[in-house]
Amino acid sequence: MILRKLLRQEFKISYSRINAFLFCPYKYRLAYIDGLYWPHTADISFGNTLHSTLEKFHAQKNNDYNFLLQCYEDSWRNDGFTTALESFEYYERGKEILKNYFETFSKSDTEVLFCEKRFNSNIGKYKFIGIIDRIDKYPDGTYEVMDYKTHAQIWTQEKVDEDLQLSFYAYACKNALGFNPDKICVYFLSANKKIYTHRTPQQLSQAIDLALEVARKIDAEEFTPNLAQCAYCAFNVKCKHSTCPAGQE
Ligand code: SF4
Repeated sequence: MILRKLLRQEFKISYSRINAFLFCPYKYRLAYIDGLYWPHTADISFGNTLHSTLEKFHAQKNNDYNFLLQCYEDSWRNDGFTTALESFEYYERGKEILKNYFETFSKSDTEVLFCEKRFNSNIGKYKFIGIIDRIDKYPDGTYEVMDYKTHAQIWTQEKVDEDLQLSFYAYACKNALGFNPDKICVYFLSANKKIYTHRTPQQLSQAIDLALEVARKIDAEEFTPNLAQCAYCAFNVKCKHSTCPAGQE
């Protein structure tokens, strides 16, 4: 009880936390207050591996393909896969992704300033934290902010234009890191394709209003279950409100 009180007093908001709350407020409580283990899937594990690989690769500024593959070996996480064959297929897919990534990166004239850049800011009276996947600087002095996606599907332009995480990235660049994000994109690594977008002041204002609304509800411990999401929820076996047959253990 004391621990829960402390966690609540010191709570921070982030895109992941807001996203969890918007999915189902009770999911937020299970994950971020009760500390329930978030089961790893193959996709989560694979995504973590690729993020870690690119972070290690760019940290050394060693533009060598064999070094990139070494970073991949060092970063590989084998949890979340259901069979050895599934693990192997993801592993091979990762090598193909990195081959294409390296080819594109080698031709690029940008400087990678940061990978997995943490920021610490405020929204209203609330602490606002997050991690930006990559920030590049172009020779003309402009900045590009990118979010890696590792799933196979590419989003539509409309989905990228409305993505809440990119709005928070743009806010954080201005308010925590001190620069204007001239270019904002989602980098779909599986397809080696970037989709660019931009954010208007009105979109940023809407994102901040939403963050504040969620933060106030968390502050007030309003964790009403959203039962419409149970079928898609990672906690549906353990949650006492779950409407799934296997739930309510
Ligand atoms: S199982 Fe349903 S009620 Fe429980 S956290 Fe998930 S979505 Fe919310």
